[in-house]
Amino acid sequence: MPYNIADPGRDLNDLIVREAKVFREKQGIDLRIGHRVEAIDPSRKLVKGRMLKGETFELPYDKLLIATGAAPVIPDLPGVDLPGVMALKSLEDARQMKGFIAEQRVKKAVIIGMGYIAFEMCEALRARGIEVAMVKPRPTFIPWMNDKLAAMVKEEVEANQVKLQLGQSIERIEKGGKGLRVVCAGTVLDCQMVLVAVGVKPCSELAEEAGLALGPDKAVSVDRTLLTSSEDIYAAGDCADAYHVVTGRKTWIPLALRANRAGWAVADNVTGTRAELEGVAGTGVFKVFGMEVARTGLTASEAEKAGFDPAEVMIESRTRAHAHPGSSAIGVQMVGDKKSGRLLGAQLVARDGAAHRVNAPAVALHAKMTVEEFAQSDLAYAPPFGPTWDPTLTAANQLLKKM
Ligand SMILES: Cc1cc2nc3c(=O)[nH]c(=O)nc-3n(C[C@H](O)[C@H](O)[C@H](O)COP(=O)(O)OP(=O)(O)OC[C@H]3O[C@@H](n4cnc5c(N)ncnc54)[C@H](O)[C@@H]3O)c2cc1C
Repeated sequence: MPYNIADPGRDLNDLIVREAKVFREKQGIDLRIGHRVEAIDPSRKLVKGRMLKGETFELPYDKLLIATGAAPVIPDLPGVDLPGVMALKSLEDARQMKGFIAEQRVKKAVIIGMGYIAFEMCEALRARGIEVAMVKPRPTFIPWMNDKLAAMVKEEVEANQVKLQLGQSIERIEKGGKGLRVVCAGTVLDCQMVLVAVGVKPCSELAEEAGLALGPDKAVSVDRTLLTSSEDIYAAGDCADAYHVVTGRKTWIPLALRANRAGWAVADNVTGTRAELEGVAGTGVFKVFGMEVARTGLTASEAEKAGFDPAEVMIESRTRAHAHPGSSAIGVQMVGDKKSGRLLGAQLVARDGAAHRVNAPAVALHAKMTVEEFAQSDLAYAPPFGPTWDPTLTAANQLLKKM
C-alpha cells in the first residue's frame, strides 16, 4: 500500500490478489463479505454477528478458524478522531488516504511513530512532494537496532528532508492554521494530515470473550498445529501467537509469510493431513529511501532476557567487491550465545544486498547452527554481489573471537 500511495497514477485495485467472486465461482467457497462476527459460542459451535445494515446472522461450524488479523494501535490523544488523522491497515484506509492527499492537496504531513509502516509511508509521502515530520516520545531512533546501524538509517532519512522529532511526548492534535496541529511537549507541528503508525495489536477480543487462552501481547494462544485452547477452534495469522525458533518460547510477531503459512497449515489439519509449524525466527525487512534494513532472531538485550549469555559484534564491510562499481558500505550486527555457541540473531543495513543477505542467518537459526558452523558455510561470491567473504561470514568470524 505505501508503494501504491507513492504513485498517484496507480490504481489501488492493482493490489487485489483475488476478487471475492473468484473464491465463490472457482473455489466453491461461500465467502460472505460485509459480515462482522461479534461472538463465538464454542458450546453450541456457532458464530453470531451482524451484516452491514444491522441484520443479525448465525452460522454453525464443525471446525472454526479465527483469522481476524491485527488492528492499528490508536493512542488515546485528544483530537485523534479529527478528519485528516488516519491509520493505514486496510485497502479502504489506503483508498481514503490517497483520496485525501489528492483532494486536500496535502503539502505537509506528520507521522506519529517510527516503525516499518511509518518509514515506508514517509518515503511514499516524500515521493508525492509532501513535507514530512516524524515524531515519537522515545528518544532512541530504532530502539531494537545497534546504534551504528540505526545511525546509518537515520542519516538516510534526514538526507531525504524528513524532520525527525525524537523524545517528544505528544499532547494533542487540534485544528489550526490551514489544517491540523500536532502539539507536543516541546514543539508544535503544522500539517494537513496525520498518520498514526505506532504499532498494531492482535484482534483477539472474540477469542478472549469465548474463553480461549491468550498468549504474548494478548494474541490467541495456539499450539504447533494452530489449535487454540478450545477443541475444534484454530487461529492463524496476526491474531495468533507462534513459537520462536531461537528461544523455543511463545512470541507475537505479526508478519505476512507466517500468517499465510499458518492458514495453509490449518487447512491441512482441518482436512485430515497433520501439519505442525516449527515457528518463527523473527525475520523482517523494510526499505526506507535508499536503505535496506533487515533483521532475524534476537538482539543482544532480547537474548539476555531470554536467558542466554550473549556476545555481539558489529562489522562494516562492502556490498560488492571493493573495486566493483556500486560497492557501498554494509553494516552487520551479529549475536551469539557464549554458553552453547549458538547463533542467536543478525541485523543488516545497506543500500543494497541487506534484504536478501539476512536469509542465510535466518535459515541458520532454524537449523540451530552454532556461530562456528555458520562461519564455515559455503556462501556465494562474485565481485558484483559481495566481497570474497560475505559480510555475514566476516561478522561470524569476528563474533567467534568474543565467544
Ligand atoms: C501498511 C502495511 C505494510 C505491511 N508490510 C508488510 C511487509 O512488508 N512484510 C510483511 O511480512 N508483513 C507486512 N505487513 C503485515 C501483513 O499485512 C500482515 O501480517 C498480514 O496481512 C496478516 O494476515 P492476516 O490474514 O492474519 O490478517 P489480515 O490481513 O489483517 O486479515 C484479517 C481479516 O479479518 C477480518 N476481520 C477482523 N475482525 C473480523 C470480524 N469480527 N468478523 C469478520 N471479519 C473480521 C478483517 O476485515 C480482515 O479482512 C504490512 C501491514 C501493513 C498494514
